[in-house]
Amino acid sequence: MDFSDFIAKYEVTIRLSFFFGIFILMALWEIKAPRRALTISKLMRWTNNLGLVFLNSIILRLLFPAAAVGMAVFTTDNGWGLLNYFDVPFALAVIISIVFMDFVIYLQHVLVHAAPTLWRLHRVHHADPDYDVTTGTRFHPIEIILSMLIKFATIVVLGPPVVAVVVFEIILNGMAMFNHGNVKLPLGLDRILRLIVVTPDMHRVHHSVEDNETNSNFGFNLSLWDRLFGTYIEQPRDGHEKMKIGIHKYHDPKQVSWLSGMLTLPFIGKITGYAINRREWSKSDES
Ligand SMILES: [Zn+2]
Ligand SMILES: [Zn+2]
Repeated sequence: MDFSDFIAKYEVTIRLSFFFGIFILMALWEIKAPRRALTISKLMRWTNNLGLVFLNSIILRLLFPAAAVGMAVFTTDNGWGLLNYFDVPFALAVIISIVFMDFVIYLQHVLVHAAPTLWRLHRVHHADPDYDVTTGTRFHPIEIILSMLIKFATIVVLGPPVVAVVVFEIILNGMAMFNHGNVKLPLGLDRILRLIVVTPDMHRVHHSVEDNETNSNFGFNLSLWDRLFGTYIEQPRDGHEKMKIGIHKYHDPKQVSWLSGMLTLPFIGKITGYAINRREWSKSDES
């Protein structure tokens, strides 16, 4: 068995080990050095947010048992995708794949903020009134399915090495838990880190109730995309401790914190014009 076969075979175990390892580290860090006080009890948050994660894992497993890695094995075996077609050297193909998949995730995130119907699904992630490691994995099942389909399409076109897909899934999952962490990072370290990656302070801006802030900092891994596409905001206007997190209209704990409320959240209220073009908070902003 070569390395790729090994990775493909033990993919679930490898990913779960990283998930639990990073989750525990972040949870301990949040206890040791929290950035903000939570507005509702951690027990209540975690039972419901992790309940949703558990539900999503079951749905994904049932619908797509082979997941993204299975798709990568299929495209590699059949020589599909640009990287297979052009016979790109392995190491280069891994790097290109990881960077390109991260770019697609960025675009997908912009998309779910731009189209009102998709925003309804993505609201579940944003309606969380607090921000901690469990927010990072809190998505509506339909958005999770949509993400997987977009990932399949990306893999078919790109033809990434199987290893690159496994590594990317681990990085994405780990980074989502890291940058949603309710953790205090020394400001100097934050400044250096965010030259390359998305830090907790950088992504927290995206969870602000203010439209222009929530429609910024869409990146999950590399901070490059927001800088490149003009969607970068350095800090929240009210500061990290005072800024309001969540969505203006939704505060009822039954709706935003209970699992049942999260599942029905996309289907309540009229489809409004909420979309990415509401970025006009600052009067001095000429563009
Ligand atoms: Zn978002
Ligand atoms: Zn987020």
